[in-house]
Amino acid sequence: MSAELDTESESATLARVDWDEAAGRLAEASPREILGWAVETFFPRLTMATAFGPEGCAILHMLAEIEPRVRVFNLDTGYQFAETLALRDRIAERYGIEVELVRPETTVAEYEASHEGPLYVVNPDQCCHDRKLVPLRRAVVGYDAWISAIRAEQSAHRARARVVGWDAKFGLVKVNPLLRWTKRDVWAFVVTNQVPYNPLHDQGYPSIGCWPCTRAVRSGDDERAGRWAGQAKTECGLHSLDSSQL
Ligand code: SF4
Repeated sequence: MSAELDTESESATLARVDWDEAAGRLAEASPREILGWAVETFFPRLTMATAFGPEGCAILHMLAEIEPRVRVFNLDTGYQFAETLALRDRIAERYGIEVELVRPETTVAEYEASHEGPLYVVNPDQCCHDRKLVPLRRAVVGYDAWISAIRAEQSAHRARARVVGWDAKFGLVKVNPLLRWTKRDVWAFVVTNQVPYNPLHDQGYPSIGCWPCTRAVRSGDDERAGRWAGQAKTECGLHSLDSSQL
């Protein structure tokens, strides 16, 4: 968290924001309107996590116009594709937004050595917990709200989210500006605005996470079918809902 953020304002902002009312009022709002509300309400105590999917890149395009100083970070597990990390540089060149890389405390080599091999093979839940959830928890300390790029149609789980809600798991407000957008909406925005995107999307990867847990999919497959393919796991745990978010 930036040193200049005033911890006093945290409780003041959170105390006066009625996110339940906001969720109702913004339910039909456009992503730009939702982002504008979030910036007006929470900035500078507003942050965003992105894995550089087309949704996140679309939001970055909008934030560059609304408020480019919003702190944006990426959970750099050490297992990301080179194409994903290169996209971070392309975003910086295009928008002047330097996405911060938030890393676990151990390198991949240290982590795998301590578990006698890659944990994603035998226990991906633990691997996601250690290399995504723990760093995320650390990254949002001191912020009042975070922006995510989830969409309702991505999974039954995500369909239960609201545009604005309290994220009890991480202890701050969660804003989902693209919740009602379809995949087609996202790509139409990306193409129309020439938003930089991951070239792997043109090679059969509709959803991209860490390389060990991401596969190309066949045409017509569910867009998240290539994530943890062959396993029951469908989410890394960042966007799992608890009852306070419904
Ligand atoms: Fe580990 Fe795979 Fe989760 Fe990445 S997606 S943190 S490699 S289990």
